[in-house]
Amino acid sequence: MQNKLNLNQLLFNYHKNTVLIPTFVVAVILFSAYFFVNTYVYTLIKNSSMKEAKTHGQEILLAESKYIGNVLGEVSRLSNILQKEHEYFFSNPNLIYFPNAKPQFEVAPNGVYYKTTKNGSSLYYSSDTKITHKEMQKALRSEVMDVSFKSIVDSNKNIVAAYFNSWDNMNRLYPYIDEVYNQYGSTLKMSDYNFYYLADEKHDTKREPVWTDAYLDPAGNGWMISCVVPIYNKDFLEGVTGIDIPLKSLISNLLERKLPWSSSLFMLDKEGAILAMPQKIEKILNMSELTTHTYIQNIKTTIKKPLEYNLIKNENSPFGNKFVEHYKNKTDFFELSINSQEYILMQTIIEETGWRLMLMIEKNNIFYSIYKLKSYGNLVGYSAIVFAIVFYLGFVLYTLKRSRLFALEITNPIEELSKQTTFVGSDKINLPLKESNIEEIDQLNFNFSQMVAELKLGKINLIQTERIKKEYKQKANEYHEKSLIDPLSGLYNRLKCEEVINKEIEAALLYEKPLSLIMLDIDNFKNINDTLGHLVGDEVIKEFSKIIKNNSRKSDVVIRNGGDEFVIICTNTELKSAKIFAQNLKELIQKGDYPQDYKVTSSIGVTSYKDGDKEEDIIDRVDRALYIAKEKGRNRVESL
Ligand code: GH3
Ligand code: MG
Repeated sequence: MQNKLNLNQLLFNYHKNTVLIPTFVVAVILFSAYFFVNTYVYTLIKNSSMKEAKTHGQEILLAESKYIGNVLGEVSRLSNILQKEHEYFFSNPNLIYFPNAKPQFEVAPNGVYYKTTKNGSSLYYSSDTKITHKEMQKALRSEVMDVSFKSIVDSNKNIVAAYFNSWDNMNRLYPYIDEVYNQYGSTLKMSDYNFYYLADEKHDTKREPVWTDAYLDPAGNGWMISCVVPIYNKDFLEGVTGIDIPLKSLISNLLERKLPWSSSLFMLDKEGAILAMPQKIEKILNMSELTTHTYIQNIKTTIKKPLEYNLIKNENSPFGNKFVEHYKNKTDFFELSINSQEYILMQTIIEETGWRLMLMIEKNNIFYSIYKLKSYGNLVGYSAIVFAIVFYLGFVLYTLKRSRLFALEITNPIEELSKQTTFVGSDKINLPLKESNIEEIDQLNFNFSQMVAELKLGKINLIQTERIKKEYKQKANEYHEKSLIDPLSGLYNRLKCEEVINKEIEAALLYEKPLSLIMLDIDNFKNINDTLGHLVGDEVIKEFSKIIKNNSRKSDVVIRNGGDEFVIICTNTELKSAKIFAQNLKELIQKGDYPQDYKVTSSIGVTSYKDGDKEEDIIDRVDRALYIAKEKGRNRVESL
């Protein structure tokens, strides 16, 4: 048999298929759509933020490089002025002019020829240069350049010094350096310094202003860059004039700028040495920038930044090879991973110097608010999922409970009804049934009650009918019995005779039992009636009947066949015995006590059943025997 569900399971299944599963599917679709949209929007915003960062970063770089370019450009132009003025100075050997008072010179203890008058610029002649009148004249006459030096230095806050270095190791520098012989030391070979050789015939063939890399200022002003330009007298290189800018003043602007996404600007020279680096990047690189220098002794040659401060040449640079590659390819936008942090880098070249200005943004900073937005979005989504799961579980439990209650509401009255149906017809039945909340079940209950009531009524009617039927049957039997009895004699009548004979013939056939028939007729009965009246005749018949009835066996059936004729059916009796019995009867009849002592005799016919006899055959034969008895004189027994 197939597994049947109970109503509770059936309801729950129905609920599951129509509500729970569709709701679950819809919820899953909605949540998936939510997370998909969240991720999609996140990606869109991320891409546009990246684009914005790129554009904005490039704008910052452009503005900053423009600013630096402007500063450098201005210095370049000023160095051009200085170049022109120096060329004029060298081409006019008779030009003598002292902007201040005529300066005084002395030879220092270390042999350096220097200017003692502390105004304008300082003057230094290396001790290994032989000071003759010619050198003294150059030292004195070049005092005229102080006008330009001063106005240049004063005009631009970035410029700390302006100078002229001659081929024969003379240095004029504004502003004045006290005890310059101590500062520079006894000798100074100009061609050893970048601020000289970069502008010589070999390095600066175009004779245009050139910029040095960062070097340590021998005059003690720290890390410096110089714009240098050669001074030619015809084709003879008289020397180099230059303008000094301390790196600090140029880059403070870069380092102090407040930039979006907490990004940082830094600058490298064209060889890759760090020119400016904010502390934030120093921390990333795990190094601190070399900004100061302790002057233990005089600087005898160009001191550049050490290799470890070069991000291109230093093989151990935390920026790695990928950075070097992008630096060399001048990629304007690239990404870099440093210590498992992602960064975006942008770069631009400052034309004047070939320096590389770079902007570095930590990716997380760009995406911080987006990450936050996404994580909030996810949090909302996950919270909603948790809430939905809790709600859903509650909903399932509630549905289970409701379907059980609902099932009980239906099954309880049905069970009660079903229980009562088993009691139909017994006294245990308990009606009417309790009312339920369901119209159909109440109707069913009502119908059942009606049905039981009708059954009860039907049963009562049936019992009554049965009783009446029984009574009728009894009565019919009684009437039948009565119809078989002759009222005068109390003996069976002719109807009974036929019935018994037929029955006994069947028995004789079946069991081979003998059967005999005796027929009696009162002799000359008519005479009694005629002489004594009918009533006496009746009395005679009664007496006659009594005699033959009383002397017959119980098994014999005594019948008044009509009028004064009688038949005795002797069951299980041979002809011989029947004849004897008939003789006896004849005697007894004669001796009977009749009214008015009337003498009554009877003629008697006797016969027995013979094979193949029918009722009429045996009746006919006994009738004939009786007839013979009558013929032979009456009051006798004859058999056939
Ligand atoms: P038989 O010897 O030849 O038989 O002569 P019988 O006079 O007896 O002749 P039958 O049998 O013809 O006559 C019978 C008479 O019995 C006729 C009828 O009037 C009379 N009878 C029949 N039934 C009754 C009855 O119930 N009461 C009286 N009183 N007479 C009856
Ligand atoms: Mg007669």
